[in-house]
Amino acid sequence: MRYEAPTTVDKAVALLAGEKGLAFVLAGGTDLLVRMKSGYLEPDLIVDIKRITRLRRIRAEGGGYRIGAAVSSAELGEHKAVRRLWPGVVEAANLIGSTQIQGRATMVGNLCNASPAADSVPALAAAAAIVTIVGPNGRRDLPVDEVATAPGKTSLVPGEIVESILLPARPPRSADAYLRFIPRTEMDIAVVGAGVSLTLDETGVCQEARVSLGAVAPRVLVVKEAGDALVGSRLEAFALDRLAEAASAACRPIDDKRGTREFRVKVAGVLARRAAVIALERARSKR
Ligand SMILES: Cc1cc2nc3c(=O)[nH]c(=O)nc-3n(C[C@H](O)[C@H](O)[C@H](O)COP(=O)(O)OP(=O)(O)OC[C@H]3O[C@@H](n4cnc5c(N)ncnc54)[C@H](O)[C@@H]3O)c2cc1C
Repeated sequence: MRYEAPTTVDKAVALLAGEKGLAFVLAGGTDLLVRMKSGYLEPDLIVDIKRITRLRRIRAEGGGYRIGAAVSSAELGEHKAVRRLWPGVVEAANLIGSTQIQGRATMVGNLCNASPAADSVPALAAAAAIVTIVGPNGRRDLPVDEVATAPGKTSLVPGEIVESILLPARPPRSADAYLRFIPRTEMDIAVVGAGVSLTLDETGVCQEARVSLGAVAPRVLVVKEAGDALVGSRLEAFALDRLAEAASAACRPIDDKRGTREFRVKVAGVLARRAAVIALERARSKR
């Protein structure tokens, strides 16, 4: 196995595109190295992207923030401006693993590992985040919910890497929240995850809302009907009921030892509702 640690994105792409065997990007390694140590994977080439300076930066862009693919969850959690604008995205990223894992793990690694239960992905999808992908044929942008296509599978083609995630500019009185259900208090895989992002007008009426669910389908779900249920309301009980119903109705979960189908369907509605109320309180506090 060959290990390379280039210092530019172009070199990383050239290395990946030129490899005939099995090639993987290494970001934090908290998924990749575990799979290698367990004998599931034996790459011919590993391209470590942590030495590429521009992938380690968080930059303001057009009123939003661009987060480099090699920024760790811990670094993200220390960024005050991103925390203020996107508290739900940051809380999701900061739920991943332990303090040790946080120092290594990246949101892009979480996304490209393509687990249906990845914690940061529903929050990013609710935030309408866009990823920038670089490959042998240049750059392209893709909504975050179109990166993972099935468990363990992404829409990236050989030689492509995710360069960054853009959290776009948002109007005043906007906020988000992420909640997950796990059987333990921490260090566990989400049985259900729910992200909600919303914007209020100056009178407190919801102008825009996006609701996203994790771990209840083969890939993250953006549930349009659930977001639409909040628009035009002040998140009164009837609107929250409709949101919860739409969220539950969209689920297509597996049935396993951590949660039955019925349980996951029910909990998806409950968590989406609770996340919406938290996002509402956060948006109100920005008045
Ligand atoms: C003890 C422990 C606890 C954990 N707890 C959680 C948890 O609570 N919630 C959760 O969601 N996950 C959890 N995880 C899983 C893991 O930590 C996360 O998925 C993490 O975000 C992966 O990021 P990484 O940078 O370490 O990815 P890596 O392991 O470096 O990469 C993961 C995959 O993504 C690919 N990849 C990485 N970066 C790029 C890129 N820029 N472009 C293209 N492909 C790329 C890699 O090739 C690999 O296939 C846990 C893992 C451990 C070991």
